[in-house]
Amino acid sequence: MRKKIIAGNWKMNKNLEEGLALASEVVNIAKDEAPNDVTIVMCTPAIHLSQVSAMTADSANVFVGAQNMSEHESGAYTGDLAADMITSTGASYVIIGHSERREYHFETNEQLAARVKLALAKGLTPLFCCGESLEVREAGNHVEFVTNQLKESLYDFGAEDLKKVVIAYEPIWAIGTGVTASAEQAQDMHKSIRASLASNYSDAVAAEISILYGGSMKPTNAQELLGQPDVDGGLIGGASLKSRDFIDITKSY
Ligand code: PEP
Repeated sequence: MRKKIIAGNWKMNKNLEEGLALASEVVNIAKDEAPNDVTIVMCTPAIHLSQVSAMTADSANVFVGAQNMSEHESGAYTGDLAADMITSTGASYVIIGHSERREYHFETNEQLAARVKLALAKGLTPLFCCGESLEVREAGNHVEFVTNQLKESLYDFGAEDLKKVVIAYEPIWAIGTGVTASAEQAQDMHKSIRASLASNYSDAVAAEISILYGGSMKPTNAQELLGQPDVDGGLIGGASLKSRDFIDITKSY
């Protein structure tokens, strides 16, 4: 059975005090309300990682993740975050290849492959993001585009490593825009991703990998999206900044 995962991406929001308040609300509400079979992840800015990890230490289903990491182990890379630094805070997940990183920091599929490899070697669970622009979608090339992202960043891994990766399909045109992919559009792409995993590995491997949808998911549309057979969870931006909305999404399966 693959995992149900609701991961929040706070992006560059919340100072330390605000972030700790949000995390404390999430942990407290989750304790009373979140279903036990849903894994909840808060991907915070780096400054919050240690303290938010400490807050979640006693929780069985709330975890913490970083939003990015370097493909280098350590050294002269000013401003970057190393995998060992992330694990030393107690965080266990890391977003790799978010479209905002690809766009503003020119991250390449090859570089992201190196990051996934290092994350896995260090025991972090990569939340690997893929997704097409509006232009690619309108040209009808979205499946080809996304499967190529997977091929270039993930398909050199052996099956045992690949099974540790969580894939997040995030159509760029739906991120932070308020425009959500329809449940049908999400399911079609998730099904194509799973078919690509099956043809490059096996049906059994494909069946084990959680594929999250990201792009303006919120309590009002979560149920329909999470009700699709190949949508195993969500990567949530805006709605993860409100504890009530975030937890309500975990209850929308
Ligand atoms: C995201 O940042 O990954 C995201 C999906 O953002 P939003 O939910 O705000 O569209």
